[in-house]
Amino acid sequence: MNTPRYLGPLHHPAFGVRIPEIFLEGIMRALKSTGTAAGLMLSYHRETAPERVINAPPGAFEITRGHTGTSIRQYISASVEAARKFKVVVEIEADHLAAVTSSAEAVKRISGARASHAGAGSLDEALSYVEEEVKEAASTGYINFFTLDSCDYIDYSAERLSDYEAISLLEQAYEDSASLLRRYTTPRRFIAEDGSFFEVRLRESEAARIALKLRRALEVLDKLYQIVRKHVDWQVGFEIAFDETPHPTRPEELLFLMEELRLKGLQPDFVAPNVGFEKRADYRGDLGELRGRVARLAAVARSYGALLSFHSGSGSSPWSGKGQGVYEVLLEATGRKLKYKISGVYYELLLSILSRQPPGSRARRLYEELYQAVIDFLRDQVRGRKELYSDTLARQLEEYEALASKGDTYPLHAEVFRHYSFVALNLRVDGRRVFRESLVELYKEDEQLRKVVDREVAELTLRLIDGLKFSGNVALLGG
Ligand SMILES: [Zn+2]
Repeated sequence: MNTPRYLGPLHHPAFGVRIPEIFLEGIMRALKSTGTAAGLMLSYHRETAPERVINAPPGAFEITRGHTGTSIRQYISASVEAARKFKVVVEIEADHLAAVTSSAEAVKRISGARASHAGAGSLDEALSYVEEEVKEAASTGYINFFTLDSCDYIDYSAERLSDYEAISLLEQAYEDSASLLRRYTTPRRFIAEDGSFFEVRLRESEAARIALKLRRALEVLDKLYQIVRKHVDWQVGFEIAFDETPHPTRPEELLFLMEELRLKGLQPDFVAPNVGFEKRADYRGDLGELRGRVARLAAVARSYGALLSFHSGSGSSPWSGKGQGVYEVLLEATGRKLKYKISGVYYELLLSILSRQPPGSRARRLYEELYQAVIDFLRDQVRGRKELYSDTLARQLEEYEALASKGDTYPLHAEVFRHYSFVALNLRVDGRRVFRESLVELYKEDEQLRKVVDREVAELTLRLIDGLKFSGNVALLGG
């Protein structure tokens, strides 16, 4: 059995292995017992970073950059080792390879806080950082998949242009604006999973607005793609992340994106639109609406040979999936062909297990110390208006103080802790990541606890595999 390997457009899950030393065991057991092939990944704009960044002294980089304290080399080598030990087929993925100039902004963008635009650094600097990441991944010999993200370069101001402004700006920006407009004003018909037809046809001004909105983002995607091509000379797959946007993606935007990518010679296996999911929250919208939206997006993607990928896959708790009925809707709307990503929920589960241990136990004490350190760090961020400062964070911190003053000690469900507990893994004392180290030590030394963690991690993985019918997908793989 060949593992890791490129999976192609296979119906499969992908898991973020933030602390490989702790989470891989349970994930592997679940995959093994169900004959499931899966992606193992971390995001390159936030969760992981090159060894140089991970090993740098505290303060050399923003706390959010490589915030799991797990380097690119480490998650890849640990994942490959575990997959081979368990004889499980995995694909090693570089998630969210992105030209971000500030990973603190990228974190705010997903923590409910409105981020300001791309930050201070230049695109060239951001791209050379990406190149360093790709080189480290490639040097392991075991990278199979890249998710490219240029959401930071979407120009939302184009949405507010008048018809006249949009057309005349387009004529200035694009050499062959006439043929571009022709491409999208000709009606196109698609067939959705339920057999219904729908048509996408844009007015000239709409096509112009979308073109202006996505112009830079498309250019940056092409640059990211070229970097991968330069350093990886074996078969790898691609996904386009289009999910970190303020609004759900419209079918006509996805059509434009896929068509322009095709013209650039980039045909991804997967594309991740914004379908209205939020991280760490169940989907609360109307399920019929979700079904219709996803079915249309899936039909557009499929006409380009791509499947949909769903990000922000974790719900309000490790036990809620993405809310009642959501998995079923996604399966129906995509014809049971999709990719589904979760990451933060494993760490949330670990903290939940620690919080349940008896008062005074080593596990519960570690949980309390970690919690307190996160709160102290955030207070300092807010007080000094530092890199993570946002009005949302300040409000969430106040809400926590109110809970704590009522005697609710270290509540798991406090918004501020749910959204920011991740920083604990990157907090340093005397240069060391003391909480990350202590979690790994505790897991290794406390056999009782380790059994609970392994079992609950496997169960969480199984709920996803069962809910989205991934079981047995390994049989669909060609040689
Ligand atoms: Zn994403």
